[in-house]
Amino acid sequence: MFILQVGTLSKSVNLALSSLKDWMSSRKAKLPIAAFPSTAEVFPEPLGLVLIISSWNLPFGLSLEPVIGAIAAGNAVVLKPSELAPASSSLLAKTIPTYLDKKAVKVIEGGVAIGEHLLCCKWDKIFFTGNARVGRIVMTAAANYLTPVTLELGGKCPAIFDSFSSSWDKEMVIKRVLGGKFGTCAGQACIAIDYILVQEGFAPTLLELLRNMTKKMFGENPRETQSMARIINKQHFLRLKNLLDDPSVQSSIVHGGGMDEDNLFIEPTILMNPPLKASIMTDEIFGPLLPIITLKKIEDSIEFINSRPKALAIYVFTKNETLKRRIISETSSGSVTFNDAIIQYAADTIPFGGVGESGFGRYHGKFSFDTFTHEKAILRRSLLTEFWFRFPPWNDFKLAL
Ligand code: NAD
Repeated sequence: MFILQVGTLSKSVNLALSSLKDWMSSRKAKLPIAAFPSTAEVFPEPLGLVLIISSWNLPFGLSLEPVIGAIAAGNAVVLKPSELAPASSSLLAKTIPTYLDKKAVKVIEGGVAIGEHLLCCKWDKIFFTGNARVGRIVMTAAANYLTPVTLELGGKCPAIFDSFSSSWDKEMVIKRVLGGKFGTCAGQACIAIDYILVQEGFAPTLLELLRNMTKKMFGENPRETQSMARIINKQHFLRLKNLLDDPSVQSSIVHGGGMDEDNLFIEPTILMNPPLKASIMTDEIFGPLLPIITLKKIEDSIEFINSRPKALAIYVFTKNETLKRRIISETSSGSVTFNDAIIQYAADTIPFGGVGESGFGRYHGKFSFDTFTHEKAILRRSLLTEFWFRFPPWNDFKLAL
């Protein structure tokens, strides 16, 4: 969590500080011969007043990462953190005015009603992190003022698991899979692995490895572990419980399944082939439940993924270069990561964002600066000369040119 929140944020601040001069400089641009003699440039201009609404699951990272981009680009910001992480929201509200210019950044705490109220105001940009249902509300409100929006949404992120190559360090690979699910906020992350796709012949081996490593990571009695997050609140706990309580899903539980409502704890749980029509396979899970879906052959994963809404992330554990190329060119998602999960969030040289149902727009590193910038076109025309055929009166000769 330190890496994903504080570590990534301090890296982003330092990158913005060291790169700002370069990012803020206008770029010279070439012009067509018809504009001769003249010069042109692309001038980065702040958008103005920006509203950032963030989610609770990485309450500092998801609030401050866009704030860094917005103020680097010269905007003023109103930040509304999530009410579901009240301690983090209140810390942001207390500390930001102490360290940042109060006229440039303001934190407004509150829940849905405050969010709705803020959406009634006119903004120059709205940057929203949350679920697709609220994303639609944000976009509808933004349409009133033609305000540009970035929507950082969620969805179901699949992990395709090819059979093991003999040269693989099995332990390392399985740790990465489980780290990308149970080890990251107990699966309460937009880029957590939602479910695994695997060739049916390899599924028993994979299940055994996942079970054994789960025990190593979280102990024989996971309720005692300090290494797994609790569920954020009772509402989300009951939502996850309902996914598991579905009678058509119950028989597919092959590991875990235990729950402790008083402590909002759900054991790392693995399911084998729950029905594809069950809510666990249609809704974003956002919790420590890991369905494994078997396919005749691993290449069928492409069709499986393409028949569902576009994911924020696709993970592929394979050494097969042909499969890698096919996933990149034949599927669409916010990102594709080979042989690991979550790690792409920490990179500031590649854009972070979704496509289709997982959202649109991108940020992190220079992409954050660009997200909060209007690239103004500047053209400087010389008065030295002019093409005689450019203006009326028109005649056949001029029109033919
Ligand atoms: P949410 O959409 O319920 O809430 C997000 C924010 O929107 C909160 O600050 C909330 O107060 C506000 N909000 C809720 N209803 C509103 C309304 N009607 N009007 C205005 N504001 C409103 O989402 P959540 O439960 O906090 O987060 C979980 C979702 O967010 C998941 O779908 C997850 O995948 C997604 N997510 C995406 C990313 C990403 O970077 N793409 C990161 C984290 C979470």
